[in-house]
Amino acid sequence: MPAFICTTCGTQYPPSEAPPAGCPICQDERQYVNVLGQSWTTLAAMRRTHFATFRQHESNLVGIGTMPAFAIAQRALLVRTPQGNILWDCISFIDDATIEIVRGMGGIAGIAISHPHYYSAMIEWSHAFGSAPIHLHTRDRKWVMRPDPVVQFWDGPSKQLLPGVTLLHCPGHFAGAQVLHWAAGAGGKGALLSGDIVQVGWDRKVSFMRSYPDLIPLDRATVEHIASVLEPWPFEPIYGAWWDRVLPADGKAVLAYSVRRYIDAITAPPRDGG
Ligand SMILES: [Zn+2]
Ligand SMILES: [Zn+2]
Repeated sequence: MPAFICTTCGTQYPPSEAPPAGCPICQDERQYVNVLGQSWTTLAAMRRTHFATFRQHESNLVGIGTMPAFAIAQRALLVRTPQGNILWDCISFIDDATIEIVRGMGGIAGIAISHPHYYSAMIEWSHAFGSAPIHLHTRDRKWVMRPDPVVQFWDGPSKQLLPGVTLLHCPGHFAGAQVLHWAAGAGGKGALLSGDIVQVGWDRKVSFMRSYPDLIPLDRATVEHIASVLEPWPFEPIYGAWWDRVLPADGKAVLAYSVRRYIDAITAPPRDGG
């Protein structure tokens, strides 16, 4: 039986004879149902039209994406460490070539995903790499559309996956949203892998939203809480969810500036009267 994949958000559902009745991820106000109506594909179909792409962002950090772009079009990041590799965020596409190439880079010891929009085909990825555990925050438990024993829910403010690789709970975009701190990033200065929990903008600043496609902002207390969670952690680059959404350096100062800018923007009166 095929495991159907929603073409708008990329979420894969459990194997079934017929496609699911709908996609709860897309029906949620943080996503949207395609204007042409709900549609589905499968990995077998995608393997005739798509392929994996790779780019090394820096030493020991390799992006993995899909061509042509699919669904939300995020790319995943493979964080390579002496203790094993962590796949940060995930994509819907995977094929034999992807598996061979990732194996050549040391395989995958664990998977962690910022929030439900990137759960994608996480179960396929885990099963392809020895049922590697998938670490999700328990507060997003209800958004797992394809339950599987490889999914491990954690609770609390942080969880170390490997030495120098730590999940931080940053509720906002989703209640269980998490980001990844990688201590060895940027030559040991630290890097933040933020998905779209801390969104890297086109102006190389960052922002925060409850819904990006539907433009629903977060409140002040939530944004200040995210800033306080990140405060103790050193980092230079911030790696957002897409190939070009990367803040190359000075992440701490840019975050502080961006938080002030955001709170100014949602707090009356407007600064320039416009
Ligand atoms: Zn969907
Ligand atoms: Zn999202």
